[in-house]
Amino acid sequence: MERYALLGWPVRHSVSPQMQGAGFRALGIEATYELIEVAPPDLDACVRRLRAEGYAGWNVTVPHKEAMAERMDAVDPAARAARSVNTVLHRGGRLCGHSTDGYGLAAAIRESFGIGIPGGRFLFLGAGGAARAASVAFACQGAAEIQIANRTIGKAEDVVRIIAEVAPHCRAAAFRPDDRAALAAAMARAQCLVQATSLGLHPGEPMPCDPACLPGTLAVMDMVYGGTPFLAAAARRGCPTADGRGMLLHQGVRSFEIWTGRPAPVAAMRRGLEEALEERRRRQAVEAAGDKHA
Ligand code: NAP
Repeated sequence: MERYALLGWPVRHSVSPQMQGAGFRALGIEATYELIEVAPPDLDACVRRLRAEGYAGWNVTVPHKEAMAERMDAVDPAARAARSVNTVLHRGGRLCGHSTDGYGLAAAIRESFGIGIPGGRFLFLGAGGAARAASVAFACQGAAEIQIANRTIGKAEDVVRIIAEVAPHCRAAAFRPDDRAALAAAMARAQCLVQATSLGLHPGEPMPCDPACLPGTLAVMDMVYGGTPFLAAAARRGCPTADGRGMLLHQGVRSFEIWTGRPAPVAAMRRGLEEALEERRRRQAVEAAGDKHA
């Protein structure tokens, strides 16, 4: 029996076990996929334990992607450039780090909007770990232009510096999302906007930028899954839209392939993911109804 896991803090709401489990079952692979909550100070001990117990691999989510990159015996070039590891392969006693976020987002954008990465022009809202990993991967894959709007401008400028180093052909620029002139110009140039902030999960949070600036022709992909007020506003403006479930699926598909060395059963993994999201939505609706009556 092979053992896999997702490490994060927190991770209990993740639907990755159902998605990966569906993939393993479809190919007749005997494997488990656990959720492991690990606080940042405990990460070293956790990695030592997974090595010692012979886990075949694991995924990594917030807040450990950068720290995991520093604990690998080898890291693939895109993951090293982005300082972000979300997939670990444990083989022959060595830990190999990969980043599949860029692959997942690229596959989702292609699937949802028919937009390819080489020669493409992208606008990212946010410069956190996911935006950094994906935008650096896009630049490495030949994107022509990447603009990054982030509240903390220094983080967006850091990503622009990385892109200039690893993919000098790519035009990259940073600005603040409240700079309306820069935002409107970036939206007019981009083929696809990627909403990569964590805003939109909780009621009452601000919009990542003013949706009134959105041209109705701009494709909008929100990394958050389940739909956000920003994505709904983009749809009302006529933009083609998609939420983060395509990215979640395809980053998991790539992890599966890195671990097993076999083509992933994408349809089975998509079904596993959709069923788990539906189940989670039902549970949340019941909890919300319970809160109202409490
Ligand atoms: P992160 O490293 O914590 O970055 C968070 C980003 O959100 C930063 O750019 C941050 O800006 C911005 N932000 C947070 N609160 C804000 C506020 N009040 N006003 C303006 N900006 C704010 O998180 P991450 O790992 O990049 O993840 C970002 C989102 O993508 C999360 O919702 C995550 O669940 C989602 N995600 C989805 C997938 C998928 O497969 N669909 C994969 C990875 C991540 P500052 O830099 O200014 O703080």
